[in-house]
Amino acid sequence: MQLTRLQRRRIQGPKPPPGQKPPTNPRPPLSGLPLNKSRPNPGPNPLQISPQVPPLRRPYGRGPAVSAFTLGTMRALASPAQMQAVVRAALAAGINHLETAPAYGPAERFLGQALQNLAREGQEPPGGWLITSKLLPGCDLDSGQEQLRAILNRLGVPALTTLAVHGLNLNEHLSWALQGAGAELLAWALGEGLVGQVGFTSHGDRGLIEGALASGRFSVCGLHLHLLDRQRLPLARQALSEGIGVLAISPADKGGQLYAPPAELEADCAPFHPLELAYRFLQQQGISTLSLGAERPEDLIWAERLSDPGPPSPVSAQTSPPARSPATAPQIAGGVPATNNNCASATSVEMNLEMNVALAVERLDAAAKGRLGSEYCGQCRACLPCPNGLPIPELLRLRNLALGHGMTAFASERYNLIGRAGHWWEQLNASACGSCGDCLPRCPHQLPIPSLLADTHQRLAAAPRRRLWG
Ligand code: SF4
Ligand code: SF4
Repeated sequence: MQLTRLQRRRIQGPKPPPGQKPPTNPRPPLSGLPLNKSRPNPGPNPLQISPQVPPLRRPYGRGPAVSAFTLGTMRALASPAQMQAVVRAALAAGINHLETAPAYGPAERFLGQALQNLAREGQEPPGGWLITSKLLPGCDLDSGQEQLRAILNRLGVPALTTLAVHGLNLNEHLSWALQGAGAELLAWALGEGLVGQVGFTSHGDRGLIEGALASGRFSVCGLHLHLLDRQRLPLARQALSEGIGVLAISPADKGGQLYAPPAELEADCAPFHPLELAYRFLQQQGISTLSLGAERPEDLIWAERLSDPGPPSPVSAQTSPPARSPATAPQIAGGVPATNNNCASATSVEMNLEMNVALAVERLDAAAKGRLGSEYCGQCRACLPCPNGLPIPELLRLRNLALGHGMTAFASERYNLIGRAGHWWEQLNASACGSCGDCLPRCPHQLPIPSLLADTHQRLAAAPRRRLWG
């Protein structure tokens, strides 16, 4: 049976740009890690080669294929029991990839306990859990080695599937990872078989991320990729075309607190829920996996519903996941039933869904443009650089969200974090505009940028709120 174009893309990743070769994995996929704290470290390569890519999984760098969603562990921190309930729900939702970090407080410790308890019940995904943890850049070799050993100890695993540099946001972070102590640390961790591959997460600018992707050091990356903030999508496509796995950081929360959308946004995304549209949009871009920081088991409902973004392919049919009963089959927007057993009709349903998502995104964008009229910022970035260093597009993007989709609460929260989150977010808000006018002739839409920035500050400046992370 032949695969459709979409099914091939789902399995292989996006089609490369004209003139480029399809992505290749320099190493074969590796299996997941068993949860066995007492298992001896078998040496430089503790990971086994998987005989076949499991169903409903996507390639992820040089490592094993991952689920469409990744469980982020920064929110289930009230107790070990809360973490265990969330991990159990993630397993039920088809997730095999867990993401954590020492910077998330007790997350690794709670996660390690949860995984041990679930392992005793025989509860783990086929091929085992895939675990990513992260280290902040800047440490020396000894400290990094100690931190990595502590991570493994807390998680109760002999090795990580992926070790990522947590917040490669500045040029000095990249230098640390490529030439400094970080380079030594990453090479040591790989050589000792303590990690299967290395990656990075970044909130940094385009040039920095391009440099990291081009370095050849990293097999995976975590980027802010959102339905309502698409500026990094070209970087994600570039990464995917080179065989680098891409994780979308927090499409729900940082992507606009889409789990609690304002009425305008809900109407703009219809017939999809804003979260469903955001997730489906990213899946259709070929993003390897979408992170979901669940606080409660019910937060994973969309992951369960969208764990198989389309009808079953011939590959997934070889090893089918547990069937859902018709009574509990999720109702998904766009008129797509959750069960299909005919490849021809599946293909047409899939194409219909892809078209419905594209049309919904068009309507969403048109709604914002309609409300903002001639004040809509098209995010082209032609106005940069500002001599005062203002991130004009990002500031006006927040204004776009507030006026275009009724997202004032989210935009205000993000705006008031500016200058308060170090290198994790912007440093200057709109009040730093000196009205010099340098940017005006560069804007192809002739936007009155200084007055729009003043309006942005007036609308969004408020008492700062607590920052969770990133
Ligand atoms: S008018 Fe304001 S935003 Fe524009 S270049 Fe001058 S200082 Fe920067
Ligand atoms: S040039 Fe104009 S439209 Fe483009 S990002 Fe700057 S303000 Fe927005």
